[in-house]
Amino acid sequence: GMRLKDEIILVKQILEAAQINFSGVDEFKLTNVSLLTEHILSMCLKEAVTNVVKHSGATSCFISIDQSWKEITVIIQDDGVFKSEDVDLCKGNGLIGIKERLEFVNGSIELVAKDGTTLIIRVPNDVK
Ligand code: ATP
Ligand code: MG
Repeated sequence: GMRLKDEIILVKQILEAAQINFSGVDEFKLTNVSLLTEHILSMCLKEAVTNVVKHSGATSCFISIDQSWKEITVIIQDDGVFKSEDVDLCKGNGLIGIKERLEFVNGSIELVAKDGTTLIIRVPNDVK
């Protein structure tokens, strides 16, 4: 699995290669996050960005990673057009895979198809 810091570097390269402007996360710090949670968030981020490149037709992609006392939130937002009629995440394997993996760590995914596509991924902080 990948650490989130390394995955961010990769997805920036993927977006650059696709000529999609990147904005958002520069430095981020996660405290007391298990490797499992980080690996799952990395996979989700990769799938989300792959979708932006494959489906959105976007010119820009914004990514944020934040941690509060309660949870870690990863947002991936593009300014393209959401392609699926079905906002219920059932067409391909990617979004369903994200959802299933997030369930391992009690996380959730929300998709907002408005002015492009926004994915909001939330994972509660690991209980110590
Ligand atoms: P797979 O991920 O299995 O290779 P997929 O990418 O088609 O296939 P999902 O990742 O589950 O499947 O996405 C489902 C569908 O939602 C896509 O086929 C596409 O129509 C739409 N979609 C997902 N993300 C975006 C996006 N960022 N912009 C536009 N459409 C999207
Ligand atoms: Mg996909």
